[in-house]
Amino acid sequence: MIHYDRVMIRYGELSLKGKNKKSFINRLVQNVRKTLHDFPEIKIYGERDRMFLDLHGANSAVVIERLKDVFGIQSYSPVIQVAQDIEQVEEKVVALVQSQFEEGMTFKINTKRSDHSFYMDTTEINHYLGGAVLRNVEGIKVQVKKPDLTIRVEVRKEGIFISSETILGAGGLPVGSGGRSVLMLSGGIDSPVAGYLAMKRGVEIIAVHFYSPPYTSEQSLQKAKDLTAKIAAYSGSIQFITVPFTEIQEEIKKSVPEGYLMTVTRRMMMRITDIIREQQRGLAIVNGESLGQVASQTLPSMVAINDVTNTPIIRPVVSMDKNEIIEVAKKIDTFDLSIQPFEDCCTIFAPPAPKTKPKLENARKFEARLEVDALIERSIAGLEVEEIKVGQDSSAAAKADFMDLL
Ligand code: ATP
Ligand code: MG
Repeated sequence: MIHYDRVMIRYGELSLKGKNKKSFINRLVQNVRKTLHDFPEIKIYGERDRMFLDLHGANSAVVIERLKDVFGIQSYSPVIQVAQDIEQVEEKVVALVQSQFEEGMTFKINTKRSDHSFYMDTTEINHYLGGAVLRNVEGIKVQVKKPDLTIRVEVRKEGIFISSETILGAGGLPVGSGGRSVLMLSGGIDSPVAGYLAMKRGVEIIAVHFYSPPYTSEQSLQKAKDLTAKIAAYSGSIQFITVPFTEIQEEIKKSVPEGYLMTVTRRMMMRITDIIREQQRGLAIVNGESLGQVASQTLPSMVAINDVTNTPIIRPVVSMDKNEIIEVAKKIDTFDLSIQPFEDCCTIFAPPAPKTKPKLENARKFEARLEVDALIERSIAGLEVEEIKVGQDSSAAAKADFMDLL
């Protein structure tokens, strides 16, 4: 395993952002730092055109893996740094080629020299290193045009830098550069994907999960937290807010006709989410609604539910087919968690036949049978907030807390 000393990062779309560029870069620096929170030794330099990480001995394989998930990065290259000593360069270049060699591979050495006081020029360096590779790696050939492997060598005052790979980043915009929103996160397939897609466009997410014990199990809550830990990979960490929802669901069940259970439940969820959004200074609400997927996700349903707020609702998966959503869920590794069988609060209280075309007037009328404000106040009083970080298995964390109590 090759150890790298630095990583050079190329910015994505943010290089187009003119005046805002500086704040975008600062945001990306913060996000990279958060993602690498357990490596305090790493130094991060956000320069105008590139970002550099000085790893100071940190495990480069882990760093390289984590960077794959940071939005706002176009691509990046791990770099080996040695002193201005051609023998050290030779040793590293040969090892690097050996680690990547495959049958029939072609290569070239591409040297740049910004420090002209170095005693060899670029042609000499190319020949010297090319010769060393040919002698040490059996079967490899030089090819100047479109080689399989290009070894980049840069001679600078502070040392000589060697790199070979350009790894594709996640693209998108740095999370947080587009403001903050609240994600309604169930245990299903759609909402984690919606959260991921919103984050990809620079939106910071706070996750809100409605929880109705004892109707919904401890496992269903844990599942929502584990899903949050998965998408936290894209921002470093996510605040997770658990909303006690049992009393509200019981009251709705008592007072509202079956056909409107779902609509009124959603309206209450939306109201509470909007209050949390305001408390957290969020600008919008993100959810996993997809048109026509289930009864609560028809246009008339959206009208009846959306009625309770003027806040913009972002629905990143609204026009995606289920298969398309599943494809993303697999890519971000939430799918297997999402299909675990633990029911969330909506499934349990779901009537056999919810109305696909609820009427707004009826929804308002039935909801008015509830003590809406008092119910919401009590629910809000019981909110629980926790920070879920990348690389943190939330079930492991929960166990650790439990052990602390013993
Ligand atoms: P998902 O796969 O995200 O659960 P779904 O297809 O099951 O979506 P619904 O159950 O109708 O759809 O929920 C629609 C949206 O409402 C969800 O995508 C999510 O944003 C929100 N939602 C549903 N249940 C909860 C919950 N228990 N906590 C927070 N948000 C929820
Ligand atoms: Mg669901």
